[in-house]
Amino acid sequence: MSHTENQGAKFLADVHFYYDKAAAFTNLSDGLLEQIKTANSIYEMHFPVKNGDKIEVIQGIRVQHSHHKLPAKGGIRFADTVDIEEVKALATLMTFKCAVVDVPFGGAKGGVCINPRNYSVEMLEKITRRYTTELIKKNLIGPGIDVPAPDYGTSGREMAWIADTYAAFKYEETDALACVTGKPLGQGGIQGRTEATGLGIYYGLRETLNHAELISGTGLSLGMEGKRIVLQGLGNVGYHAGYFCQKEGKAKIVGIAEMEGGIYNPNGLDIDEVFAFRKKTGSILNFPGAENFSNSAAVLELDCDILIPAALENQIHAGNASNIKAKVIGEGANGPCTKEAEEILQLKGVIIVPDLYLNAGGVTVSYFEWLKNLSHVRFGRMEKRLEELNFRRMTETIERLTGKSIDAKDKKLLIHGAEEKDLVYSGLEETMVNAFHEITAIKLGNKNIPDLRTAAFISAITKIAASYTTMGVWP
Ligand code: GLU
Repeated sequence: MSHTENQGAKFLADVHFYYDKAAAFTNLSDGLLEQIKTANSIYEMHFPVKNGDKIEVIQGIRVQHSHHKLPAKGGIRFADTVDIEEVKALATLMTFKCAVVDVPFGGAKGGVCINPRNYSVEMLEKITRRYTTELIKKNLIGPGIDVPAPDYGTSGREMAWIADTYAAFKYEETDALACVTGKPLGQGGIQGRTEATGLGIYYGLRETLNHAELISGTGLSLGMEGKRIVLQGLGNVGYHAGYFCQKEGKAKIVGIAEMEGGIYNPNGLDIDEVFAFRKKTGSILNFPGAENFSNSAAVLELDCDILIPAALENQIHAGNASNIKAKVIGEGANGPCTKEAEEILQLKGVIIVPDLYLNAGGVTVSYFEWLKNLSHVRFGRMEKRLEELNFRRMTETIERLTGKSIDAKDKKLLIHGAEEKDLVYSGLEETMVNAFHEITAIKLGNKNIPDLRTAAFISAITKIAASYTTMGVWP
């Protein structure tokens, strides 16, 4: 589905629809529900940049959906589809996403209306730095105010430019690096942030497929092993989701859709090989052993067990939902299913694992990065060696008491002290598993709650409302 001008408005209307549907299950007052739903502040800017001998006027947006907790948090999207409604919808989702996984931030989102493929790296740097400056001018960025991160069309490179621009203006701020997350490791980033969203998707889908009651109606067997996956999008989110489902979950990636088209091989595609092939040839098409699809949307309708849309919103809609064969849809992207699609899919017994839960791994590890930046110390630095010393003593005691010696390989594993990456992965897994159980308990605890999305929204709304009442605003 091409992204027309109305797509952003459609996306926002759907997010509001999901919110209202969930809000009806709470007994909160209308006023409080309205406050939690409404975007708190919206800023649109237009700034000039020189491109060769021409001046281009660039549109940038930042929406802070909720200030119930600060800083506000959410990525910055570079795409020519960016408009106010779209960014509002994305910022709204961020509020509920953070609440679902207990990340203590309000939701926000930014967008720059450009197709980054049409710009040189120098131009992208100029645009990113100017966008950051516009945010600084209006006090819309800062470690305790609003903390951007990567999103569609941006990565660590843009975050490094943002951090550097901010630090140049705020040279007196000790915590300046905490103004943005998703930074490269050398510039205050954290191990595990790049793959965090994809890894979180894997944890979430693994939990879903291991939940007998939840998947009982789908006809699928328990567990991820051997399940056939179709992926839409081989960007950061799609690639890592596929990577972990294949390598850790032992699932089979049978189809991949990208902008240039799609490929399918019922015997399985090695995600790393496809990734390397695309890097080399510029396209996934003609990957050895796979069938080509010139229409990439057709790949979504191929036979599979799990479909992971990890690109943009509104990809599964009234026009194609009835053709979807997957039994589980894992929303890697934000808003990939429209509400009409959701209704059709629900009648078919398809389980949708919703975006506000499933792709929350990114912001979860952003939270860890922010904590690292504020504490100015790498996770694990203080305790790693002490842990190793204690584990070593323990293995030696076991050896002494049993009179047997532990195999050298096992010993190495046993005495390994937690490094930053181990702690990040562990914190992310804990977060995704906990949130999953909270959501499923809500869903299974009330027969009238129709789906996991509604349950996730109920979980989030309840937590947000509690934070308003403790503030004494709503006695
Ligand atoms: N852009 C990501 C999202 O949609 C990450 C946001 C963040 O880390 O702040 O969740």
